[in-house]
Amino acid sequence: MRIDVYTIFPGIFRSPLREGLLGKALERGILDIRIHDIREYAPGRHRQVDDAPFGGGPGMVMKPEPIFEAVLNTLGYGWEELDRLKEEVRVILLTPRGRRMEQSLVRELAEEEHLALICGRYEGVDERVLEHLCTDALSVGDYVLSGGEFAALVVIDAVARLVPGVVGNRESLQEESFSGGLLEYPQYTRPADYRGWRVPEVLLSGNHAAIAEWRRRKAFEWTERHRPDLLRGGGLDPQAWGEGGD
Ligand code: SAM
Repeated sequence: MRIDVYTIFPGIFRSPLREGLLGKALERGILDIRIHDIREYAPGRHRQVDDAPFGGGPGMVMKPEPIFEAVLNTLGYGWEELDRLKEEVRVILLTPRGRRMEQSLVRELAEEEHLALICGRYEGVDERVLEHLCTDALSVGDYVLSGGEFAALVVIDAVARLVPGVVGNRESLQEESFSGGLLEYPQYTRPADYRGWRVPEVLLSGNHAAIAEWRRRKAFEWTERHRPDLLRGGGLDPQAWGEGGD
């Protein structure tokens, strides 16, 4: 999968793309992630990327020209090919005004061959970028970040994990939070007794059916307590989960 990122702070991506799963996937060529500095496509000696908002108000807005130029030039499309670009590349503006990202959308994006992520700063991005260059507007949650770079990293990380070959053990993707409409069950490792805090006995029992049942129940209880909206949306029936002690 190829991902092109557009930012005025390319340095933010250096370390996250060098470490861990992402670093390995890039090294092995499973992912091709290219970071582009929008400022290089800004005209004039000062390479101005922002300006005051029309209609007044606080802060600055990112200008459209450097963003259009950066995307068209780096992806190799002409002005008359904007429609073809949007058919061939998922061009995503990161913005708190966008569709809120969920695992179902992450799965959808992981099926794409080519993503382009545009990172805003200041008060945001001139709306014509969204109207004429982008296919999607995406938010990583109901809060405001200082820049789209952090949101882009969230998108890259979540999507990359689902690209075949990035996560070694595919099984771990099947049982994790959101995969079956529930949050994940609690996990424990050695020591079985730490300062008198014991791991639930069932996990030490070797009884795989009992362990699976305990995990299903815990996943359900946790989801019911912390994210009841997931249960309502997923059509899961609380009564279907058995009663039982630890
Ligand atoms: N004035 C904007 C608003 O109220 O919607 C917020 C601008 S924010 C300070 C600067 C940039 O950070 C945005 O243009 C966007 O790229 C990014 N950003 C902030 N919060 C985000 C979120 N929840 N999801 C995705 N991107 C976000």
